Amino acid sequence: MNYRISQRAASLTPSLTLAIDAKAKAMKAAGEDVVGFGAGEPDFDTPQHIKDAAAQALAQGFTKYTPAAGIPELRQAIADKHQRENGLSYKPGQIIVSCGGKHSCFNVIFATCQDGDEVIIPSPYWLSYPEMVKLAGARPVILPTSDATEFKISPAQLRAAITPRTRLLILNSPSNPTGAVYTPAEVKALGDVCVEKGVLIMSDEIYEHLLYDGAAVKSVASFSTAHQEQTIIVHGFAKAWSMTGWRLGWCAAPEPIAKAINAIQSHSTSNPTSFAQKGAVAALTGPQDHLPRWRTEFARRRAYALEQLQTIPGLTCVKPHGAFYLFPNIAGTGLKSSDFCAQLLEQEKVAAVPGIAFGADDYIRLSYATSLANLEKGLARIGNFCRRLRA
Ligand SMILES: *Cc1c(COP(=O)(O)O)cnc(C)c1O
Repeated sequence: MNYRISQRAASLTPSLTLAIDAKAKAMKAAGEDVVGFGAGEPDFDTPQHIKDAAAQALAQGFTKYTPAAGIPELRQAIADKHQRENGLSYKPGQIIVSCGGKHSCFNVIFATCQDGDEVIIPSPYWLSYPEMVKLAGARPVILPTSDATEFKISPAQLRAAITPRTRLLILNSPSNPTGAVYTPAEVKALGDVCVEKGVLIMSDEIYEHLLYDGAAVKSVASFSTAHQEQTIIVHGFAKAWSMTGWRLGWCAAPEPIAKAINAIQSHSTSNPTSFAQKGAVAALTGPQDHLPRWRTEFARRRAYALEQLQTIPGLTCVKPHGAFYLFPNIAGTGLKSSDFCAQLLEQEKVAAVPGIAFGADDYIRLSYATSLANLEKGLARIGNFCRRLRA
């Protein structure tokens, strides 16, 4: 049969990060000694009290449909979090809980963008953003950055990219894949341009709690009522509570947008999993003492990996201040990112993600959400690989 695939689906590029991860896992399963730097998730377990809350909900029969936008208790706990940590007031009705932060991004883009709209995406970008924008019928407008500007766009660059068709700016700080963090002043300057020009901002703040070197973040929504009215915050439980498999995220949006997202969700996935939501309530209202421990461990690995990368010929790497990724420049090796990663996996059995997946072909992404022992082994192998290229 010659199946006609819809134009929307055919326009998609499948997720390269998931593909690399699958290949590395298959090699491992076949008994090969693979070191994986591809992971986009913390290697820590979900804290016990969160698991207990979900297990208890399950045991008590909390297994039925919930309201599509999430249980009131969780929406309230999320609103309280934004008040407490970000100084932002949201009514529970402005919070929509979805099946992961990725799903929240999808809902936001579908609720706000349509055919003919333009969406500004700084690159390197999280690889799903442009694909979601295309699915919605809108056009991604990519603003390239490099390590020379620590992977940040300037207000002037943003202003020059805005046209009458611009609907949305996607901001992600701290960033996946670069780990870059905009300072509060930098975020405000970008927000000011959007407020002035009437451009909405989707602010993906999922790495908010993973910061190093005393870096501080401030949500773009928090600078004034006008900023908040222009912004939709996307957040989730995957990273700061290590709950990637639970599939729970949220957005905090102006009321009309929240209503539209609720409608989309009610006709697509309905509610996120009932008992998982009870775990999420425990995540927000319970102790947060795992976070300083995780940050300390991530910081230790990051420092070690940066030190090792400096000794490898052909690679340079700026110091990122958030998330759990390094984004070294490989231009000095003479290879582009796909060849680099394919040969590295083949010859040294190290899995890294080619930067081209994030719109940056002179870089690779290394996740340090893995043990120090793995970092030692894997970085030594990358060193061997690069020295051979130079020989
Ligand atoms: C991990 C991640 C998300 C959300 O992931 P979910 O597993 O869907 O919650 C959103 N944005 C970025 C940039 C991420 O890295």
